Amino acid sequence: MEYGKSCGDCYVCCESPKIKLSDGFYTNKPEGVICKYVEDDKCSIYENRFDVCKKYECFWLQAAQELKAGLPIAWRPRNLGVCVTPQRAEGKNVLFVKEIYKGAADIANPKSEVNRFLQFIYNWTKTRQRKWEIYLVSFGTDRGHKLKFTPK
Ligand code: SF4
Ligand code: SF4
Repeated sequence: MEYGKSCGDCYVCCESPKIKLSDGFYTNKPEGVICKYVEDDKCSIYENRFDVCKKYECFWLQAAQELKAGLPIAWRPRNLGVCVTPQRAEGKNVLFVKEIYKGAADIANPKSEVNRFLQFIYNWTKTRQRKWEIYLVSFGTDRGHKLKFTPK
């Protein structure tokens, strides 16, 4: 298995950030619409990208950078089909597991890479002092439902 700790050819978050009016960018950009600055699979204004873009790091990137060897590249959002975002929501620490395309979160299949990644996430959250809740956000929806993930 190949490991990595950088975005590489992934630009999943360039399809779904909530870009604010104050960023001087487009408003109400629908999720799933690729940013107009993606060219040749990368950001064409990377050095001058918006603050919201600079701040965003998905869970895969954060965890991969914490680990010496990184994380499997197969779990990088563009490859896996799900993107996990850590957030504070209603006073809780939440990990939103968001499907990038319909059916990507193949959690019914115990051998799927998504399940292996969720197992890793579950183990990771147990090592943290703060409590985390994991929510699955199906493709095309805004709100997630609490994931009934059964760890091994
Ligand atoms: S989704 Fe994660 S890995 Fe992919 S480009 Fe964004 S921060 Fe990088
Ligand atoms: S400006 Fe660049 S980093 Fe920001 S969403 Fe667009 S392509 Fe991605």
